[in-house]
Amino acid sequence: MIELRTPAQIEQMRPAGRFVADVITALSRAADVGVNLLELDEIAHRMITERGAESCYIDYHPSFGASPFGKVLCTSVNDAVLHGLPHDYVLQDGDLLSVDFAASVDGWVSDSALSVVVGTPRTEDLELIEVTGRALEAGIEAARPGNRLGDISAAIGGVARAAGLGVNLQFGGHGVGRTMHGDPHVPNDGRPGRGLKLKPGLVIAIEPWFLHTTDEIYTDQDGWTLRSKDGSRGAHMEHTVAITADGPLVLTERAA
Ligand code: MG
Repeated sequence: MIELRTPAQIEQMRPAGRFVADVITALSRAADVGVNLLELDEIAHRMITERGAESCYIDYHPSFGASPFGKVLCTSVNDAVLHGLPHDYVLQDGDLLSVDFAASVDGWVSDSALSVVVGTPRTEDLELIEVTGRALEAGIEAARPGNRLGDISAAIGGVARAAGLGVNLQFGGHGVGRTMHGDPHVPNDGRPGRGLKLKPGLVIAIEPWFLHTTDEIYTDQDGWTLRSKDGSRGAHMEHTVAITADGPLVLTERAA
């Protein structure tokens, strides 16, 4: 079911967005060569406790998950791109890390993801992150009343295809509200002018993710982490966006 939020409710969603943005900023600053993924999870966990927020991940147990997630953060490194289960791994020079974080504050959820390179970057990784970020911006730009869901999807997919990247349609964006995953599903490619008509009050997570040389993934033995089939690296960028009469409002915008 698709739920629309009133302007007052969207105001109530701002603290969750700000908190999630602050956690993503803290994680991007902490991520460095020699840092363990479990330390990043601990940082996010501490911030949740201090803020009195609620993790969307720790008890998360969907049909595709092997068991409850047990951590508050997704950390996907190199050929891992989504749902990376934090484990005992120390970041190495040149690793491409994607962090994905969702939490509830005052009963409202926000969800955001960011890819960074720790240490010395490979040019191709910086380019992949740049394209993914540009696809996110294009998707956000299309998230306005009068457009349709397919306009968001087409905007994202168009950036990917122009860069020669394939698009996987198994996992994409989603409605966000009292819980992390609601309707509608927001595919990362589609046809302009098709699908749900966008109305003020629709709040969605827009989250392009791309792999260098494939659009196929498989699930790691941990039951969660999704890796590229050919071992190529992935990037993932996500914001929670409220569609308002004035256009898109990025609730998880990070302070400059
Ligand atoms: Mg997310």
